[in-house]
Amino acid sequence: MRFAILGSGSQGNGTLVQYQGTHVLVDCGFSLRETERRLARLGVNPEQLSAILVTHEHADHVHGVGLLSRRYNIPVYLSRGTLRALRKPLEPTGFVACGDVLEIGALAINVVGVAHDALEPTQYVFSNGQRRLGVLTDLGSYCGRVMDSYQDLDALVIESNHCRDLLARGHYPQFLKLRVGGAFGHLNNHQAANLVSELGWQNLQHLVLAHLSSKNNLPQLARQCFVDTLGCDPDWLQLADQDSGLDWREIA
Ligand SMILES: [Zn+2]
Ligand SMILES: [Zn+2]
Repeated sequence: MRFAILGSGSQGNGTLVQYQGTHVLVDCGFSLRETERRLARLGVNPEQLSAILVTHEHADHVHGVGLLSRRYNIPVYLSRGTLRALRKPLEPTGFVACGDVLEIGALAINVVGVAHDALEPTQYVFSNGQRRLGVLTDLGSYCGRVMDSYQDLDALVIESNHCRDLLARGHYPQFLKLRVGGAFGHLNNHQAANLVSELGWQNLQHLVLAHLSSKNNLPQLARQCFVDTLGCDPDWLQLADQDSGLDWREIA
């Protein structure tokens, strides 16, 4: 199994997971042309996509889903709440709900509900029967269910959205600071690092920090927070950014 990231951040998200002939895209926050360009960069033709899984209705995750799925006839899966909250109509192939296990080609995907300011947001854990990859962004806090679902992973993509201090000192209006930093907003660097520390990271082949805020975070701050919390090698940590995303990573 391997994975790559088309781009990560508030301007657009997309994570690609591949095993054998199955390619699953989690979210598509880019225009059609931009998505095609970013897939081509990874050597993937949109026609190869087996499915698109949507996490929630925010534009940085759904902007390109409708066009891409219609243009290339790609099945789309999302929660009923996400569908209700969408501004543009979309015809999903099927619905997901927290606790479901979705089977798409060679991949089994656990659906995990999270705390975020969306109607029924979900995140996903992928398995090919031997290895497990967790994708976890857009959550303001985490509960036992998240901890249970993200145990025993071989690779993890986790949101490290903002630095608490930068957010507090920054130019966001107060309501937005409260939203972003709140229990239904986004994980800050410390929360994300603590979550990984609680999960245990020694068996992870890849740990990727994602969805970094361009205004309220800095890559070196996020990195340092993880290094301080986990005691890991800074060079081992990986970062997915808005423009270049992350190239393919193999989970051996
Ligand atoms: Zn987002
Ligand atoms: Zn969101």
